[in-house]
Amino acid sequence: VVELKDVHKSFGSNQVLKGVSFAIPKGQVVAIIGKSGSGKSTALRCIDRLEIIDSGTINVCGHAVHDPAIDLRQLRQDVGIVFQSYNLFPHLTVEQNITLAPKAVKNLPTAKAREIAARTLQQVGLADKAQAYPEQLSGGQQQRVAIARSLAMEPQVMLFDEVTSALDPQLTGEVLRVIEALAQGGMTMVLVTHEMEFAARVADTIIYMHEGKVWETGPGAMLKNPQTAELRDFLSHGL
Ligand code: ATP
Ligand code: MG
Repeated sequence: VVELKDVHKSFGSNQVLKGVSFAIPKGQVVAIIGKSGSGKSTALRCIDRLEIIDSGTINVCGHAVHDPAIDLRQLRQDVGIVFQSYNLFPHLTVEQNITLAPKAVKNLPTAKAREIAARTLQQVGLADKAQAYPEQLSGGQQQRVAIARSLAMEPQVMLFDEVTSALDPQLTGEVLRVIEALAQGGMTMVLVTHEMEFAARVADTIIYMHEGKVWETGPGAMLKNPQTAELRDFLSHGL
């Protein structure tokens, strides 16, 4: 359902993506790892057309993302994206945060939107927090609300960009468990993550990006047996 072919993207003279290609079949999970600045977030953002690519093609759920005539509304309904910062509206309750887009974008009646909010909150383990305000929640709980908010649009594909890197270790676990449950439920996902053990366990395919290219790719086990000096180096020294 997601296919990138020879994607190039520069910011000014900075070539950030230098011919990135990969494909994700329906129901599969891809984890993108790599050093800071290697182009992970840019690749992810291109999939949702938050960045516009210079050349190559990106196809997502039947949408030609590289096509300037694309229907962004349709694309954004099919693709959910969650970032490190959760950006919940502080003056709205958890439920209101979640029902906002289904009501505004999909024109769902309030009752139906609330039903979906209840279901997605259940999915992220926060069924009892519908009437809470974001400031009353922990960082991990807020991030799970952000995931529920994305799921409420009933996307075909979910993109996660380092959603746990702002969280304490004990809060990280609860968010990763939610993502793992989504994977087991058959959601097609791309995870940019620094959680190597998690990536190896949950992802069908790992993509190691280095200097704007897919440097090495394989199943989780590839992290135990890196083929390139760059990946070996990355795994031993981290960021
Ligand atoms: P990190 O692990 O630190 O999040 P990353 O692999 O996600 O790194 P990107 O955010 O994709 O890296 O950035 C890759 C390069 O693109 C960096 O050199 C960055 O400065 C540059 N870059 C990213 N977004 C923009 C932008 N909007 N304008 C200009 N340069 C950008
Ligand atoms: Mg990034």
